[in-house]
Amino acid sequence: MADILDGKAFAATVRDRVATHVARLKEENGITPGLAVVLVGEDPASQVYVRSKGKQTVEVGMTSFEHKLPADTSEADLLALIDQLNADTAVHGILVQLPLPSHLNSDLVINSIDPAKDVDGFHISNVGLLGTGQKAMVPCTPLGCLMLLRDYHGDLSGMNAVVVGRSNIVGKPMANLLLGDSCTVTIAHSRTKDLPAVVRQADIVVAAVGRPEMVRGDWIKPGATVIDVGINRVPNGDKSKLVGDVDFASASQVAGAITPVPGGVGPMTIACLLANTVTACCRANGLGEPTDLTV
Ligand code: NDP
Repeated sequence: MADILDGKAFAATVRDRVATHVARLKEENGITPGLAVVLVGEDPASQVYVRSKGKQTVEVGMTSFEHKLPADTSEADLLALIDQLNADTAVHGILVQLPLPSHLNSDLVINSIDPAKDVDGFHISNVGLLGTGQKAMVPCTPLGCLMLLRDYHGDLSGMNAVVVGRSNIVGKPMANLLLGDSCTVTIAHSRTKDLPAVVRQADIVVAAVGRPEMVRGDWIKPGATVIDVGINRVPNGDKSKLVGDVDFASASQVAGAITPVPGGVGPMTIACLLANTVTACCRANGLGEPTDLTV
């Protein structure tokens, strides 16, 4: 049976460290880090995420600014709000919850956020900085995955990593981070030929596909580390349950270590968002950046 990579416990440790930094910023500098979350429309999953982000922001002592806009908000109104948040010195991080309603241009909206406040790391400047190995705001989900991997393995250099999924928010930044840690990286996607054979080469598998339990135990090299990013709601009798993109029952028999769903990558994502907000706050105020948050 594989070791379980407990993201829930690790995320609690990160939140504790964030809270310590927030308390110090308040006490020594009179600054309270602030995170603004913008939600357009009423997508139920997005509402749950936004609620959870707001709650955890307050729990670590930061200020949460929530902006809930109707689904038919115009692009001009949304851009005006982002301009206002960019100019607000009490706001150190800005997150626009994705997906946006289809009449809004997500790229335009994300790229209107001040890159220094882009705590999701999706602005084209941060994407470019990460891609060229420079100091960037790093997207929270892949950052959380990397932290779990470093915590378990220490040095990742020379390991074969296969990332299944090439989205801008998970797959591509994950591949860049693993490359930055000197892994040999393969990015697989829906056109990859013989995906099971590709995955079988991996010492590290990151599954970010959005297909319930697609990656099976017999795809996994014995002893490999499996990071399951997927969050899929599937029917369970007359209720429903969350499963990942990996078939946990079979994969956990073969892998050396594996993240559960729920309780793996998910909690790390929000913890990294809080950590990025503290980092953004320190940078904005010309203060030394915490070194113990996102290692
Ligand atoms: P996207 O839908 O944007 O991307 C999915 C990727 O998977 C695409 O690159 C797609 O390939 C690839 N893919 C789809 N089907 C297959 C297949 N049969 N074989 C191989 N590759 C395939 O999803 P996201 O990256 O946004 O999210 C992925 C998963 O992670 C989802 O379950 C999502 O809910 C979850 N998630 C979890 C987060 C967390 O906090 N834990 C945060 C963000 C996402 P192609 O490009 O060729 O279409």
